Amino acid sequence: MKIETQEISIPLLKEKEVCLFIKRIDKVHPFVSGNKWFKLKYNLLEAKKQNYKTLLTFGGAYSNHIAATAFAAHEKGFKSIGIIRGEEHFPLNSTLQFARENGMELHYVSRSEYREKSTPDFLEKLKTKFGSFYLIPEGGTNELAIQGTAEILEENDTQDYICCAVGTCGTISGIINASNPKQTVIGFPAIKGFDLLQKDIENWTVNKNWKLVNNYVCGGYAKIDKELIQFINSFNATQNIPLDVVYTGKMMLGILDLIGKDYFPKGSSILAIHTGGLQGNKGMSERLGVSLPTN
Ligand SMILES: *Cc1c(COP(=O)(O)O)cnc(C)c1O
Repeated sequence: MKIETQEISIPLLKEKEVCLFIKRIDKVHPFVSGNKWFKLKYNLLEAKKQNYKTLLTFGGAYSNHIAATAFAAHEKGFKSIGIIRGEEHFPLNSTLQFARENGMELHYVSRSEYREKSTPDFLEKLKTKFGSFYLIPEGGTNELAIQGTAEILEENDTQDYICCAVGTCGTISGIINASNPKQTVIGFPAIKGFDLLQKDIENWTVNKNWKLVNNYVCGGYAKIDKELIQFINSFNATQNIPLDVVYTGKMMLGILDLIGKDYFPKGSSILAIHTGGLQGNKGMSERLGVSLPTN
């Protein structure tokens, strides 16, 4: 696959003598958001191979992973069940509406139950209720997902730095595994819990050419302020590149801030991975009553 990469052109980059590119994996599939396509790829093949008829997974009400799994399951002929954190609200937001339209059965659990979702007890209850299913973890991260995300980096991606937003660590781990030891992979966490993320990545990878930066969580997971919304809209207006509010907007804000602080040596090249997530902007703009790019 040859994925489109665009060069960003803003005065700051000239001034600091660095090049910044963005790899548009958000464009790989119209509905299965960016990195989630890579994470699902080998899981769907495995589920078919093992003759499963149903996929079951977990997520919040705006989850890109829920939307992606619903669509991919439908397309490949699986039934799908989404275990959703929190209470049911009507009308459904655009993410859950999309999941429903793709045949996903939605099952809501309380936040405290949701925390128990990986325990054998809870999984046993789900089996009793729904019958047998192929389990895809929250955010889609498992070994097969990381096999898929390793394919995000291609031969021509030879930049000195690779930047990527981090949630459950599946995407950055595949990228680290596929990177050249001369490259540095930089993760921008979108959730709090720096030490846990650090440990998770260590568990999934062998290379040591990576680090996480901790200053761009912007208040916490899916916390959105005016500055972020304004940044995303002006970036879209000047670059014609839509960013999402949960992951890629915060990452790009972080990259530009680090460039401004001379974090990257003069002459270096940076590749930012656009992991997608634009479907989530729709629900967020409805909820917050603000305008955000959605494609
Ligand atoms: C899910 C997601 C991520 C995080 O990926 P992980 O593999 O969970 O770390 C990053 N960006 C977008 C747009 C996502 O939807």
